[in-house]
Amino acid sequence: MKILCIGRNYAEHAAELKNDIPAEPVFFLKPDTALLPPGQAFYLPDFSNDIHHEVELVLRIGKEGKHIQEEFASRYIDGITVGVDFTARDVQQRQKEKGLPWEPAKAFDHSAPVGRIVPFESFLGNDAIHFSLTRNGQEVQRGDSSLMLFPFNRILAHLSRYITLRKGDLIFTGTPKGVGAVAAGDTLEAFLEGESLLRFDVK
Ligand code: ZN
Repeated sequence: MKILCIGRNYAEHAAELKNDIPAEPVFFLKPDTALLPPGQAFYLPDFSNDIHHEVELVLRIGKEGKHIQEEFASRYIDGITVGVDFTARDVQQRQKEKGLPWEPAKAFDHSAPVGRIVPFESFLGNDAIHFSLTRNGQEVQRGDSSLMLFPFNRILAHLSRYITLRKGDLIFTGTPKGVGAVAAGDTLEAFLEGESLLRFDVK
C-alpha cells in the first residue's frame, strides 16, 4: 500500500505558512514505513529540531481506481479516520528554499500515525466532518471538511489521473490551521466527530 498526502488544502493553514492558495491539489507520497505501529510511541528523529503535528482526515481506498470521475469518487472510499502528518518543518523549509523535494521532511519512518479506521458509509453526504487534535489534553488543532479547498471527490479525481489508487491505500487530505512543534513527553490524541481514534506518546 501507499500513502498519498494533500498539501495546502485549508486556506488558513496555507496562510500561516505563508504559502499561496494552490490552483489544483498539491500532493506528495509517504512510503508504508511511515506508518506508526499501533501502541508504539513516536520517537523524535535526530535530523530535525522542529517536528510539527498536522492532524488530518485520512481516507482509505476500497477498490482499484484510475481516472476516477468526481461524481463516482465516494464509491472508491471505504473507510475514514484521523492521522498525523508529521513534518520536519526546519528540513522542509531548507528543501523549499532550494526547490528540492519534500521527502526528507515528510516521508521519514513513523511520520504517518493513522487512527482506527471507521466505515465511510456513515459519513456519506456529510460535508462538514469534524476532527481535532489535543496535545497533553489541550486542543491545538480543530477543523472540518467543509473548510477544504479541494473536497474528497476532487482529490480522488486529481490523484488518480497520475497514480492508480489501490485497495488499502491511504489519503491524508490536508491540515487545518494550528500546526506546531511537539516535544518529548507529549501525548497526542486525535478525534473524529468527538471520538478518540488515535493516541500515542512522543519520546
Ligand atoms: Zn499535511
